[in-house]
Amino acid sequence: MDSRYILRAPAKINLLLRITGKRADGYHELVTLFHPVPAVSDEICADLKGSPGITLACASPEVPENDGNLGARAAAAFAGRMGITPTWHFELKKNIPVAAGMGGGSSDAGTILKFLAEQFPGCPGDELNALAAAIGADIPFFLSPGDAAARGIGEKLEYTGQLPMPEILVVFPNFPVSAAWAYKHLQTMTAPENAEAELAELVNALRQRKFRKAAALCANDLEAPLFSKFPLLTQLRRVLWENGALCVHVSGSGPALFALFEDTSSRKEAVQALAVPENLETGMKILEC
Ligand code: ATP
Repeated sequence: MDSRYILRAPAKINLLLRITGKRADGYHELVTLFHPVPAVSDEICADLKGSPGITLACASPEVPENDGNLGARAAAAFAGRMGITPTWHFELKKNIPVAAGMGGGSSDAGTILKFLAEQFPGCPGDELNALAAAIGADIPFFLSPGDAAARGIGEKLEYTGQLPMPEILVVFPNFPVSAAWAYKHLQTMTAPENAEAELAELVNALRQRKFRKAAALCANDLEAPLFSKFPLLTQLRRVLWENGALCVHVSGSGPALFALFEDTSSRKEAVQALAVPENLETGMKILEC
């Protein structure tokens, strides 16, 4: 029997990200609306019947391999919890931009964890969730990616069911920003009751396909310092605004931007407006999702 499997680990964007408090342990409390973006997915080849141990190889130089990789850490935690001696080997092909605010590492970890839980049943769902959250606050979302509100530090999920969505464009400007940088420079927080009211309004607007209203409700408390520090983001936002975007925001801790459009033809126009001559090789990625 073949023991190799191909897994797909989707990216996410945060349509709303409100920071509502800071805990004594330094973590921030938030209210967010996650939307999975399977059009941008990492590919993971898993071999469960190799030599003893866990390895994770990745050809992207900016991504740590083996123990340093969130995917391998998740696999090791699962093996420990289940009392399994692993013979697991993973090869990761990154398509999700790294340190972009699109949840790449968390998605790899959640996808591997979910896969292992299917292959080796016996870990109750709540324990798997706790295992995931102990490695990273966004990882529980990727155990079962679907439109979901999240609270706590991102680990308390409330699925909304699939929401109607306007057309989405993601622009990655090809420089990394660490989540630590974004949180260190946080300037605004939102009262929890206001964040909850916005979340409810946003979900309702999407359910009713009122995309202009939904776009006006999208927001990110982490984004102001990013726009101040990186003028390229402000320029990209202006081009998107001038070419039909209903809204433009940073996803998560950035620097990836997402823009919402009423239809595919206005999104196309924005893509054309962003086009840079090929010989400039900026490395900027424009992803129609
Ligand atoms: P989030 O949106 O969850 O805040 P992010 O998209 O901003 O995350 P990642 O792409 O997950 O950030 O990468 C953050 C850092 O994590 C990287 O700089 C890298 O050193 C490390 N890392 C560990 N495992 C992975 C992985 N599987 N893929 C990418 N980066 C990883």
